[in-house]
Amino acid sequence: MVKIGVLGLQGAVREHVVALEQSGAETVIVKRHEQLNEIDGLVIPGGESTTMRRLIDKYDFMQPLKEFAAQEKPMFGTCAGLILLAKNIVGYDEPHIGVMDITVERNAFGRQKDSFEAELMISGVAEDYVGVFIRAPYVVEVGEQVEVLSKHNEKIVAVRQGPFLGCAFHPELTDDHRFAQYFVNMVKESK
Ligand code: GLN
Repeated sequence: MVKIGVLGLQGAVREHVVALEQSGAETVIVKRHEQLNEIDGLVIPGGESTTMRRLIDKYDFMQPLKEFAAQEKPMFGTCAGLILLAKNIVGYDEPHIGVMDITVERNAFGRQKDSFEAELMISGVAEDYVGVFIRAPYVVEVGEQVEVLSKHNEKIVAVRQGPFLGCAFHPELTDDHRFAQYFVNMVKESK
C-alpha cells in the first residue's frame, strides 16, 4: 500500500484524507517536515496560499518540500496548493515551491463568481466530473512538458507535469473520488 501525506498546515485537510483512504491509500497528516521522509506522495490542499506560505516558512518546510519534488515524488496541489506548485504567479516576483512549469493567476474567476460548481471533462479521469471552485485560480500559461487535463470556459483548470498534478478546484469536497484515485494511481506507479 502507498502512503500519502496531506500537508496539514492550513486548509481543507481532513476531506483529502477521507478521499485518499477511500481510494486505497494509507494517509498521514504532515505537520513536521521530517514526516516527508515517510511518504510516497503529498497532497497540498486548498486554503490561502499566502497563509500557507507563511506557515511553510515558519515550520522550515520550504527546503524539504523542494527536495521532495527533486526526488520526483508525486505531489498534488489543489487550489491554493496549485498556486504553491506554480513556477510563476501573475503579479508576484517569486514563486513558492515553484516546481510546475505553469503560470497561475490567483482569484482569477473574479468576484462575481467567488464560488461555483461546474461540470468538467478531465482527461484520463472522468467525462462528467463536478468541480467545486472557491476563489479559484486558473492557469494562464503552460510549458511544453505540461499536459492540460481540463478546461472550464476555455480556462485551464487541471494540469499534469510528470509526477506533479494540480487543479484549480476542490476535488475533496464532493463524494466523487475519481481524481483522488487518479493521484493514488500515480503514486503507485511511481513506487
Ligand atoms: N484564493 C486562494 C489563494 O489565492 C485559493 C483559494 C482556495 O484554495 N480555495 O490562495
